[in-house]
Amino acid sequence: MKTISRIEKETRKRKILVVDDERINRLLLGKILEEEYELLFASNGREALDIIKSEYKTLSIILLDLLMPVMNGFELLEALEAEKRYKNIPVIVLTSEHNAEIRSLQIGAVDFIPKPYDMPEVIRARVKRSIKLAEENTVLNAVENDSLTGLYNREFFFEYAKDLDMYHNELEKDAIVVNINRFHLVNELYGHSAGNDLLRAVADSVRTLLREYIGLACRCDSDTFYLYLEHSADPSEIAGRLISDIAGRSGLSDVSVRIGIYESCDRSLTMEQRIDRAAIACNTCRSSYSSSYAFYDNELHEKELFCEKLVRDTDKALAEGQFVVHYQPKFNIEGDKPRLSSAEALIRWMHPEHGRISPGVFIPLFEENGLIQKLDRYVWNEAAKAVAEWKKNYGITLPVSVNVSRVDMYDPGLEDELLKIVSSNGLSPRDLLLEITESAYSGNSGQMIEVIGKLREDGFMIEMDDFGSGYSSLNMLSSMPIDILKLDMGFVRKICESDKDKRLVEIILEIADFLSVPVIAEGVEKEEQYLLLKSMGCNVIQGYYFSKPLPPENLGMWLARTK
Ligand code: C2E
Ligand code: CA
Ligand code: CA
Repeated sequence: MKTISRIEKETRKRKILVVDDERINRLLLGKILEEEYELLFASNGREALDIIKSEYKTLSIILLDLLMPVMNGFELLEALEAEKRYKNIPVIVLTSEHNAEIRSLQIGAVDFIPKPYDMPEVIRARVKRSIKLAEENTVLNAVENDSLTGLYNREFFFEYAKDLDMYHNELEKDAIVVNINRFHLVNELYGHSAGNDLLRAVADSVRTLLREYIGLACRCDSDTFYLYLEHSADPSEIAGRLISDIAGRSGLSDVSVRIGIYESCDRSLTMEQRIDRAAIACNTCRSSYSSSYAFYDNELHEKELFCEKLVRDTDKALAEGQFVVHYQPKFNIEGDKPRLSSAEALIRWMHPEHGRISPGVFIPLFEENGLIQKLDRYVWNEAAKAVAEWKKNYGITLPVSVNVSRVDMYDPGLEDELLKIVSSNGLSPRDLLLEITESAYSGNSGQMIEVIGKLREDGFMIEMDDFGSGYSSLNMLSSMPIDILKLDMGFVRKICESDKDKRLVEIILEIADFLSVPVIAEGVEKEEQYLLLKSMGCNVIQGYYFSKPLPPENLGMWLARTK
């Protein structure tokens, strides 16, 4: 068996299992059918069941004698009926009883062939018709297939991947994940039917592999494909071939894919964990503009173990106060002199073993497993306490912005929680600004608009964080309720070196002007960046040029000086 996809059945001879205890009958049927079909033989039900176990996905039909030793035809039919995955294989009963038609059909057969086999044409016609009917039927009931690409869907992929291990236990396997870079852009720029064509092109490329390697594939989450294949001596070659084949078939020059490979899977892992490892490797492909591939290796494994440890340590860390919040001042630069106008709360983890861990390491992790909600609530509380403390000590209310992760936005208790935090610290919603990253707006934007609308009615101000890093369409921007645009650091970094980036910032400032919202530039490290942004009309600056994020006491000292 080289592949277990339906495609094979279409391109190769269909496979028939003949089950009869009499050798002469097997020979006769063999002669009649061998030209058109590939034949397998069994001399009793038990032998047949063994063959069916490994071949059920490629068998087009079973021709079954009823009276046999060891396990007879009726018993085999019962066994097939009991097993979900065997149900789709049609069975034709071979019988010498002349009135056997009704009985055969009653026990689950689709047809019968009378013995002796003296009418070869009739036999061939019955076999052909039964196969055709069964195939049409599977097409109609193709719930196991993704209707767009014809590959398996996720659920069946995992079920059949486990079977593949069982029946090809001797083979090592590779797990592969293929993802289309910026697929939503293809839909947006070229339309949904072009998006669908691209998905089919990827599926076709995957299928060409399945003709050569034992394995199976599925599509899930719109533009992600999973493959589970017999191990290849050179998986890079497979990745390279997929990349060039997809480029060739798609016909779109700016389309690229990233591929993650987990070679020679460890069998002690679940199938989901094996695919996860390929997905982890896939996510390390950096460029989203050109195709690339990556392997799951020791380094990634170490990183995964480290991440697992961090997750295990989190509750203890929260209880022991290992998480501390620092505050980075933001300055309004509209006037002659920069004026401290607010600060951003940024979390740090002072880990007793690993030292200071950057949020860039643990935030994405916590966003995946939901821990982020707990952590964010902690930060919001700490931030509100700090604002109240400064107010008490220095008589100055310095508003602080907190990061609200995408996951928080789907929490029905969010609004109550935020209101409770501000009121219990004697503050107003104006004192706690909410930073929501641009990419959180994509997806269910209807729900986002609703949630943000409510928060704004309560008096909270919304900053759209990392603006320009996502792909918000202008259309979406104008309908999004926001109060401040926060320019992505990537632009600021290059603003003095690249005219293109400078121009982009100008455009964003024009958009902000059109929307009547102020713009914050973050990541400003140099004087020339600050001066250029000021001359372009940017309103607020945050960055190392003015100050790194500081512990609350230090920011308090700053406030004491401004007083
Ligand atoms: P962000 O929200 O875009 O925060 C700005 C990041 O830029 C911070 O990194 C800040 O320290 C850094 N930064 C500020 N000025 C400069 C500069 O001049 N140059 C450079 N190179 N970097 C500068 P940090 O603190 O490592 O945080 C990274 C990200 O982690 C944040 O990006 C935010 O997405 C996330 N994060 C931090 N704290 C929280 C939190 O409490 N909750 C959530 N959900 N996310 C958080
Ligand atoms: Ca932020
Ligand atoms: Ca940001």
